[in-house]
Amino acid sequence: MGKTAVWILGDQLLENHPALQAAEAEGGKENVRVLLVQSAARTRKQPYHRRKLVLLFSAMRHYAESLRARGYAVDYVQSATFTAGLRQFVKAHQPERLFTMAASEWNGRSFQQHQLTKIVGIPVTLLPNTQFLVGQFDPYPSHTPDKNVIMEYFYREMRRHFDVLMNGRTPAGGDWNYDKENRQPLPNDIALPDEPRFQPDSITQAVIDEVEAAGHGVGSLAGFDLAVTREQALAAFDDFLQHRLPDFGAYEDAMTERHQTLFHSVLSPYLNLGLLEPMELIQGVELAYAAGNAPINSVEGFVRQILGWREYIYWQYWQQMPGIMEKNSWDAKRPLPTFFWDAQTDLNCIHHVIERAISTGYNHHIERLMVLCNFCLLAGIEPMAVNNWFLAHYIDAYDWVMLPNVLGMGLNADGGVTATKPYIASANYIHKMGDYCGGCRFNHRQRHGADACPFNFLYWNFLLQHEETLRANPRLGPNVLGLRYLDDEERTAVRHQAQQFLDSLERPTPT
Ligand SMILES: Cc1cc2nc3c(=O)[nH]c(=O)nc-3n(C[C@H](O)[C@H](O)[C@H](O)COP(=O)(O)OP(=O)(O)OC[C@H]3O[C@@H](n4cnc5c(N)ncnc54)[C@H](O)[C@@H]3O)c2cc1C
Repeated sequence: MGKTAVWILGDQLLENHPALQAAEAEGGKENVRVLLVQSAARTRKQPYHRRKLVLLFSAMRHYAESLRARGYAVDYVQSATFTAGLRQFVKAHQPERLFTMAASEWNGRSFQQHQLTKIVGIPVTLLPNTQFLVGQFDPYPSHTPDKNVIMEYFYREMRRHFDVLMNGRTPAGGDWNYDKENRQPLPNDIALPDEPRFQPDSITQAVIDEVEAAGHGVGSLAGFDLAVTREQALAAFDDFLQHRLPDFGAYEDAMTERHQTLFHSVLSPYLNLGLLEPMELIQGVELAYAAGNAPINSVEGFVRQILGWREYIYWQYWQQMPGIMEKNSWDAKRPLPTFFWDAQTDLNCIHHVIERAISTGYNHHIERLMVLCNFCLLAGIEPMAVNNWFLAHYIDAYDWVMLPNVLGMGLNADGGVTATKPYIASANYIHKMGDYCGGCRFNHRQRHGADACPFNFLYWNFLLQHEETLRANPRLGPNVLGLRYLDDEERTAVRHQAQQFLDSLERPTPT
């Protein structure tokens, strides 16, 4: 029996990898040789956050070690490109065929489908991706682009099919959705839990040294403490179950200067790498609910994020690719302001959120959506510039998750395919959900004038500018109705101040 090769991509670090299983079934473990490629060209595609690079490369190296411990022969190749790494491997080992699992990203999958066989010169078996539940069950198999799919109904179908938080045909607790119980602002005296920390071992330290020496990318590596193995990622999940899940639901949308992660799970970096799988997290929180350790609004809220939003976003990505990259339904053309790269702005909320993104590569969902994307949508920032900034700055960022979240949900640039309404809000929302406004030089109550918060005049300017389009959207009716309180003089003042502010932003973004 000849050698069988398995190429495992860096974000496919699954304990039970289908390509490994298929190769082993064909020729026995002793004939399997696994390849992991660290491509320099891919690393430099964006100025990625250094913490993300260390997380990715350290997790890949630990995964290679874990496979060796399980008896597999593994090559970890660092090369200029994937093509060079694959050719080097095939030349060295002369395998007779190659197994690989479909990439979750469009470019990677297109490479596997159209170029890989030619590059390796042997038969390639491309197996379906198993990292998403929607790969096992598609709630809308005959979907056509002329019909919009609403996340809520997608999510209910997923709950029914996978029998998650269900009592027969009815949802556990009686309701499908506890959204209204997920919007409490944070009490001043509440204790905020620390996240688990994982000290770098020698493998991680070597990667930290390499990434620091390369000098590429954004952000800081100080105090790197992320999980880099499946065991550590499972420990991080366990910590979430014990210390954060009970309050996750109530304070899911809250924002504070005092703490970065609140009661969020911070599991997206590990899920997106394959160190954790969605169903094991869903089952973990279901067990916590059954044991009476967490209330329904927290458990349903978390399940909604994983089985609802995450799966829906991946599904939307594959529905909308590659066209989504060209979408710009609000005709937004302004360059990304320079302060996105250094956090130097008087807007206290944006300052804090960007500063945290730069130092840690993490913001929670509402900060990404209602602070950063809200600002970019109101200010008319060019969608792909925003997308690329997000792609560079977050430790959990991948093409499949970024495009529908940024262009779809955050900027509504896809014409409302991902989200039925643009998520826009004035300073009132940011003040209601957090404490950023307290320490800000702008006044969150003033609509215009020297001290007015820019979120206010930009918000009202956006409504004025797009009144007709917004009026046609039933979910935004009440917002547009607010325009009747603005007389001509106030409309002129809002427009004038918004224009002045936007003109002041137009400085080029560093490359
Ligand atoms: C503009 C924008 C950009 C985003 N970029 C990313 C990204 O690059 N990578 C990423 O994984 N998520 C992204 N999200 C979704 C979400 O903000 C993050 O998944 C979440 O903040 C990660 O932190 P957490 O693990 O503490 O999440 P929690 O609040 O604890 O939520 C639990 C899990 O739900 C999943 N989830 C929730 N919402 C989404 C969503 N909209 N899309 C995909 N998964 C979701 C994540 O896996 C997350 O770990 C983005 C959202 C927006 C609005």
